[in-house]
Amino acid sequence: MRYVKPFFLSVLLGLALCPWLCALAPDYAHAPQMVSLLHWARMPVRVCVVMDSAATPERERSALAGFGEWVQATAGAIRYQLVSDPARADIVVTFDLEPTVPGHPGAVGHTDLRHEGPVLARADMTLATAGVSPDELTQTAAHEFGHALGINGHSDGPDDLMSPDTMRLIRPDGTPLPAPHRAVTARDLNTLWLCYPSLRPGASPPQPAVVPASHIVIKHKQSKSTKHHKNQ
Ligand SMILES: [Zn+2]
Repeated sequence: MRYVKPFFLSVLLGLALCPWLCALAPDYAHAPQMVSLLHWARMPVRVCVVMDSAATPERERSALAGFGEWVQATAGAIRYQLVSDPARADIVVTFDLEPTVPGHPGAVGHTDLRHEGPVLARADMTLATAGVSPDELTQTAAHEFGHALGINGHSDGPDDLMSPDTMRLIRPDGTPLPAPHRAVTARDLNTLWLCYPSLRPGASPPQPAVVPASHIVIKHKQSKSTKHHKNQ
């Protein structure tokens, strides 16, 4: 019986510290707003910036600077390749001339993800531009690129790039409030590494599965592969 009281005390202490400890967790894979962690099957990912009437070279530079924040934070483990044909791209980026993304009130950026299981098949990113400074566009693009890389959800840490608070607030009159600049944090990075564990610095390369000798079947004729890979 004498252990009951300390037990309950430790439970109460744990409950009291949980929000604080959770905020200090090295990643936010289990944050309430996290949906799932996805990944691309290949790297570099192919990015197409649609150069329509809403696009300008300056906007393209600002968006790519945001993508570059992840490249830099991962020391090049995450990288992208620009392609001109949207049909050949993994991630398609479109600018919009409205202050917020149509269909997503209050959002200055939005990314639709298509995936098969945990493997991403396509990401369509829209970046609003009306009243958006180049720096804000870079930050929005960095946040959306986090989604496009597989962080399908949001952090519970207010300082993280993938916090939903990263996005600007919109005044009642429709004009945007500037958002404080956030960069890729250690928690952002740790969460991304959960999507790409084999790319994490120091990670051992994936080992081939060991097949028990009794299960090895030697085939004398090899059949042709019928696998088709999308987007190649
Ligand atoms: Zn978001």
